[in-house]
Amino acid sequence: MSVSAEESAVKVCVRVRPLIEREERATAEDSVPAPLYWKADRKSIHQLDDGVTTKSFSYDRVFSSSETTNHLYQDIAKPLVVSAVEGYNGTIFAYGQTSSGKTFTMMGSKLVPGVIPLSMEEVFQTIQNYPRRSFFCGSPYMEIYNETVTDLLVDNWKRKPLEVREALNKNIYVADLTEELVTCPAQALSWVFKGEKNRHYGKTKMNERSSRSHTIFRMILESREKSDPASGDNSEGAIIVVPSVDLAGSERASQTGAEGARFKEGCNINRSLFTLAQVIKKLSDESQRGFTNYRDSKLTRILQNSLGGNAKTVIICTITMAALEETLSTLQFASTAK
Ligand code: ADP
Ligand code: MG
Repeated sequence: MSVSAEESAVKVCVRVRPLIEREERATAEDSVPAPLYWKADRKSIHQLDDGVTTKSFSYDRVFSSSETTNHLYQDIAKPLVVSAVEGYNGTIFAYGQTSSGKTFTMMGSKLVPGVIPLSMEEVFQTIQNYPRRSFFCGSPYMEIYNETVTDLLVDNWKRKPLEVREALNKNIYVADLTEELVTCPAQALSWVFKGEKNRHYGKTKMNERSSRSHTIFRMILESREKSDPASGDNSEGAIIVVPSVDLAGSERASQTGAEGARFKEGCNINRSLFTLAQVIKKLSDESQRGFTNYRDSKLTRILQNSLGGNAKTVIICTITMAALEETLSTLQFASTAK
């Protein structure tokens, strides 16, 4: 670890998902011992060989399989959301192999809300504390698949590639992205679920496309002083963005045998994740000087204004003990980013 958790603008944590029933059965029937044994505490994970630690990884926080999403939210996401309302940018990433719990953690379900719905509740609750200001809240939701950006809030048959542009004030934005006004958490949630539905549309045809795309959900909060008749219109806007990103399954990044379209896909995922790791590494370690080329991938380009500067970043690495090798590679990525 290069910088202590308190000082660092980047926090890396790991969430271990519980084994699902099928995996538990498989593990019980498996007579060959797992190649990796491990031990975890609140801040680290140790790989063991015959009870002896062979490798240790340290993080800002390790969430065990018995800790809930709400637990994780309170601990690492809420502080970021609260500071976003105060004007700081923040980004929450979920990184991990397919089926390790990224979507469960970020979106959740109607029964177990994820980080995104919990953050939205928080935002709407927090703005109640500012009765003198009026807020515009929008929540665009986009997908990056093969370096092409599309709007998840647009019905599939109408979806088309969108351009990433730079505004006069140097802010990066995605042109023509839906930015509906949302006025309450329920309304915001309905947009989120619409986007999720669009994301999974045609899953059989596209063969698990959703595990090979990155999605970026943003919460945009623009606030103005309510105009006071005595002082005239003294409106002043501030945009607060809380993007949360569900990255493509990380195992695809290392796929080498693939050919054709699959190969191109793998390269694109690889490039985004590599560029992201570079960007994050520089952010978390001030001694890492040099130019950061956000333009190297759509993912980092779009997030350019939300990373760096006064922004706070949280990376949640999701792992499962059901796929040990991929887990190890996630742990390695996570400690590199640290
Ligand atoms: P990913 O988005 O990384 O591909 P998912 O979030 O879809 O993975 O999770 C795969 C499966 O595991 C889903 O059925 C999900 O409900 C379940 N799951 C993931 N994380 C947890 C968790 N922490 N607790 C309980 N079930 C989980
Ligand atoms: Mg998913």
